[in-house]
Amino acid sequence: MGYRPDRKTIPIDEARAILAVHGEPVSRAERVAVASASGRVVAQALVADRDVPPFDRAAMDGFAVRASDTSGASPDRGIELRRIETIFSGATPIAAVVAGTCAGIATGAPVPDGADAVVMIEHTERDGDRVRVFEAVAPRQNIGRAGSDLVAGEIALAQDTVLTPARLAVAAALGITELEVFRRPRVAILSTGDEIVAPGGRLRDGQIFDANTTALEAAVIAHGGEPVVAPRTGDDREALARAFDLCLKEDLVLFSGGSSVGERDFALDILSARGRIHFEGLQLKPGKPTIFADVDGVPVFGLPGNPVSCLTNMYLFVAPMLCRMAHLPSPVQREATVRLRDEVVSPKGRHQVYPVRLDGEDAIPVFKTSGEITSLARADGFFEIPADVERVVAGTIVQVVMF
Ligand code: AMP
Ligand code: MG
Repeated sequence: MGYRPDRKTIPIDEARAILAVHGEPVSRAERVAVASASGRVVAQALVADRDVPPFDRAAMDGFAVRASDTSGASPDRGIELRRIETIFSGATPIAAVVAGTCAGIATGAPVPDGADAVVMIEHTERDGDRVRVFEAVAPRQNIGRAGSDLVAGEIALAQDTVLTPARLAVAAALGITELEVFRRPRVAILSTGDEIVAPGGRLRDGQIFDANTTALEAAVIAHGGEPVVAPRTGDDREALARAFDLCLKEDLVLFSGGSSVGERDFALDILSARGRIHFEGLQLKPGKPTIFADVDGVPVFGLPGNPVSCLTNMYLFVAPMLCRMAHLPSPVQREATVRLRDEVVSPKGRHQVYPVRLDGEDAIPVFKTSGEITSLARADGFFEIPADVERVVAGTIVQVVMF
């Protein structure tokens, strides 16, 4: 009997359980300018070194008063006070407000000594320095207290916080210009195959442009990693082994192509010679010939060369690991509940990830083959067909995970 190459495949849940215990969060940190830190993750907590705001300030344009002076004031009963000055924002009050007096004040200006509330300008009438107040205010009303936003000593940004515009503004409000954030995990991308040519080059007979490097690079960036593109390498065992070894100094390696059982598919050979193979195939479509190995603590994916399979696996398996390594929360899945417009068949025993385009309340199947990247490019998302389901009829309500 001839040799029949085969691979052991495992269900995707089993694969997920294996992947969940690989890929340590990176511990390296770097200082970056606050202005360019959006999306980064705080490595060292930022503790407020001062109160924000630093002084009691008016929250409204109006008059700083002693609240007790306004008791009994109402829309038809004005109480008269004498204005002693007007304090604009950025200015310092020169006098204290005493009984029977007030100070004009702008939003954001420091509340003068003696005053404990601000009456909104809309509730007053002014004639020169004579101000009539038509509203009784309570102590502290319309005043932003020193430290009401942040108190000196408080944790302003905790470790592992993902920086958003508002959180960067917290750092800015404290006068900080740089933050200590985690380094992005470095992800080696090694696309392999005698037939692949870098975009921009020239194709000879039998060659195609490399689509995977570009897709993986973009997906790595989108999930908090820093892509490190290795030189494309042909289907030559020694050359692949050398190229692969150079990738091992990174935090994660994505090897694409040559992961199947063909005569010149060397990924499994190379990975098993160097490290421990955790799985060598998945009960998944597309994406069956997917390998996962651990080489001296570096997680390595051997992804299929077919671009749809490659990118599907990136979304399903690599992205969650990469996010964890980057201290980012798991990718958020936006979902849509829609009606499948046409019937779809699925291979028995393989979980299928099926790309669809959305048209209103309908999902239109757009999968061609796993070699055709427009299967994904023309899709808005995918729905999943469990391994034991072979047919999903038109009209079925499906849950689509959006890209
Ligand atoms: P392989 O996984 O090496 O058996 O490749 C499976 C299919 O994917 C073949 O048709 C390859 O030509 C194609 N392929 C492999 N790598 C790439 C790539 N980087 N970009 C586009 N297609 C690829
Ligand atoms: Mg190949």
